[in-house]
Amino acid sequence: MSSLDLKGKRLSLFLAFIMLPFVVFFLILFSPIILTLFPMFANVAGGFIFWGILYIAVMVGFFGFLYRVVDKRVAMAPDWMILTSREYWLLEYRREMDKDGDYSHRRIALVLYSGDCPVCNGSVQIARGGFHFPGRLVGRCAESPVEHVFSFDHISKVGRPLR
Ligand SMILES: [Zn+2]
Repeated sequence: MSSLDLKGKRLSLFLAFIMLPFVVFFLILFSPIILTLFPMFANVAGGFIFWGILYIAVMVGFFGFLYRVVDKRVAMAPDWMILTSREYWLLEYRREMDKDGDYSHRRIALVLYSGDCPVCNGSVQIARGGFHFPGRLVGRCAESPVEHVFSFDHISKVGRPLR
């Protein structure tokens, strides 16, 4: 398991990194209004919109998972991050407590969950819910990935049968 501690300035920098594409997006969206108010930007607007759209596309393609991790607190790690592994790795945006049990900071952790299927004792791994469980992560048995499906909760670590 590897992880990245996020505290104070680093957390702000990280969130700014995620928010920047949104800022660029809204600048492009409101460019007609901005240009009406500030006509002196007219000669750079075309270039900004072109590079802005390219920038957003690259950011969403490579780092869209970061948005999911922060928003949903857990997401599948992108394929490019785990090229060498055949396992299904997850990223968690974890809450860390100090020694008094109070909130301290968050960190991003690369984690791998596995369990034994209660039906057939096969190996269960976490995967995307797909068509039947949209927006969810579920545990799927390697021996019967369609029928032996379990809910997944990265906080409680408890799963119940979904079929
Ligand atoms: Zn099974």
